Amino acid sequence: MSPDLRPLELPASASEWGGWFERRCDEQLARARELATELKQTLPESRTAEETLSLWNDVNLALGNAFAVSSLLSQVHPEEPVRTSAEKGEQEAHRLLTELGLDRELYNVLAAVDDSTLDEGGRRVLRLSLRDFRRAGVDQDDAVRERIRTLSERETEVAQEFSKNIRDDVRSVSLRAEQLDGLPADYVAAHPAGPDGTVTITTDYPDYIPFMSFGRDRSARRALLEAFLNRAWPANDALLEELLKLRDEHARILGYPDWPSYDAEVKMIGQGPAIPDFVDRIAAAAEKSARRDYDVLLDRLRQDHPDATGVDSTDKSHYIEVIGRERFDVDAQRVREYFDFAKVRAGLLEVTGRLFDLEYVPAPDAPTWHEDVAVYDVRSAGRTLGRIYLDLHPREGKYKHAAQFDLVPGIAGRQLPEGVLVCNFPRGLMEHDDVVTLFHEFGHLVHHVLAGRHRWARFSGVATEWDFVEAPSQMLEEWAWDADVLQSFASNQAGEPIPADLVTKMRAANEFGKGFFARTQMFYAALAYQLHQQVPADTTAMVRDLQSRYDLFGYVPDTHFQASFDHLQGYTSGYYTYMWSLVIAKDLFSAFDADRLFDTEVSHRYRDRILAAGGSKDAADLVENFLGRPYDFTAFETWLNRG
Ligand SMILES: [Zn+2]
Repeated sequence: MSPDLRPLELPASASEWGGWFERRCDEQLARARELATELKQTLPESRTAEETLSLWNDVNLALGNAFAVSSLLSQVHPEEPVRTSAEKGEQEAHRLLTELGLDRELYNVLAAVDDSTLDEGGRRVLRLSLRDFRRAGVDQDDAVRERIRTLSERETEVAQEFSKNIRDDVRSVSLRAEQLDGLPADYVAAHPAGPDGTVTITTDYPDYIPFMSFGRDRSARRALLEAFLNRAWPANDALLEELLKLRDEHARILGYPDWPSYDAEVKMIGQGPAIPDFVDRIAAAAEKSARRDYDVLLDRLRQDHPDATGVDSTDKSHYIEVIGRERFDVDAQRVREYFDFAKVRAGLLEVTGRLFDLEYVPAPDAPTWHEDVAVYDVRSAGRTLGRIYLDLHPREGKYKHAAQFDLVPGIAGRQLPEGVLVCNFPRGLMEHDDVVTLFHEFGHLVHHVLAGRHRWARFSGVATEWDFVEAPSQMLEEWAWDADVLQSFASNQAGEPIPADLVTKMRAANEFGKGFFARTQMFYAALAYQLHQQVPADTTAMVRDLQSRYDLFGYVPDTHFQASFDHLQGYTSGYYTYMWSLVIAKDLFSAFDADRLFDTEVSHRYRDRILAAGGSKDAADLVENFLGRPYDFTAFETWLNRG
């Protein structure tokens, strides 16, 4: 047995971070460059297939190391100069990646490798690498490659500007003070009337979301909704049109019929036209449950507004909140009392430790970038498997959402996997939604650590198809809804565990609306696909048509949702991903006995066959290995239609 690997040594004092980062990033990028040059210079005959592929693996490992540390520090380091320097490092890593992808000499070296002497993993790495080169356009003639370079550059610029317009275009409505009726006292106090007697409510989430849920004034909700759905309009109209045309040309120049076909090729779904099929299948499956819950909302709306003919987004969130309170008796204030941050964090480690046979040993002396960060060594059967960093509270300049970042990708015998959870939870009492998010994100973290002992960088960590990535995390959310699991750590100040009947009510409230939520999701998925597939002249007409077809809440006249549909930037035509992963998450969960969530026979099999496998096999094969059959829709449809 070889000795345990040592974690990456981080700087011990705050002033050393800037220099440390630059050394780490420069050194890894320089190494990737040198190794790529070596690959091209040495005569191919003087190397075995195995040696060539090992060198290529080292190029990717160095590049992965540079990407990991730069993308992490650009989002979490407390000092602005370090974040800026990390952003530059990330851009440099991107430039090198593009350069390598279009490097004909490098491609020729790999394409000449005789794979008959390689093992199964080596053959897979080679096959996927050659596919990446082809998708980058390496084997096209000079004119086409030049055009691809131009297209890619412009796609990045336009997508960034599209996103920036959404971030920057904060709109607002002016309301009379009495139009805040129904909002919590702290919200009202935070929004005092101005000199003219009106109150300003913006389209930012902390303003918008509570207002749409709690605001009783229907016309005020309507005005805010219209402002929200018109963010970045008309600024993003021309940009979206250009972006869709650029991507369309990009896909066609490489020989694909359209952008979704190009994008779907490397996903589990495989083919562009499979996306609308999937969307229609889910829409049909959700129909019954969606109509049933929609009618409940409509009936309740009519108690307040007898002339209402239908529910749209003006009323949706508000009446969901009303139904939660009146019908399911869930008082969010009471629920919070059971979720003290420190107990939840300890509980999460205890629960996942039991499930996957892991021990989290605090490493209080390990240096970090901020005093809030808690460090643990992940151990199992007497060995250190990795190191995790939990950076869970907000601070200025820090990433605003919740995500897992890599610090170091793990490689068998060479690098210990190290990952970071970056979230923005309160220090005291948490909402139950926060607890679910914590379990979800921890699912990604444990995936990163457990899949950190492959030989190939290509297989390390969450290296699976992009439309499968969310499934393990969505599945782990189930543990945050189980009364026995919650009672093992969630207790109020008096030490009383959360009552099982309260958890039952929370679950019932959470199930309400799952059908119509699925339909709204399918509207987004259809829109993302059709925009890229058809490249329509009138994007608003497409929004109107698809929304009336899929979303029970319908189109709001004179609004332009597509202008602030930020997912078009990163997910392009693949918004369906979330629901696709959820279908598989429900199927994976069906292997567990819902009454015995700590059955380690199942959870260890899951750990070994799905998580630890990383990207070593196609996701469909991993799932089949675990379930003993191919994945299907049964569990998802049963869940959708129960209750
Ligand atoms: Zn996730």
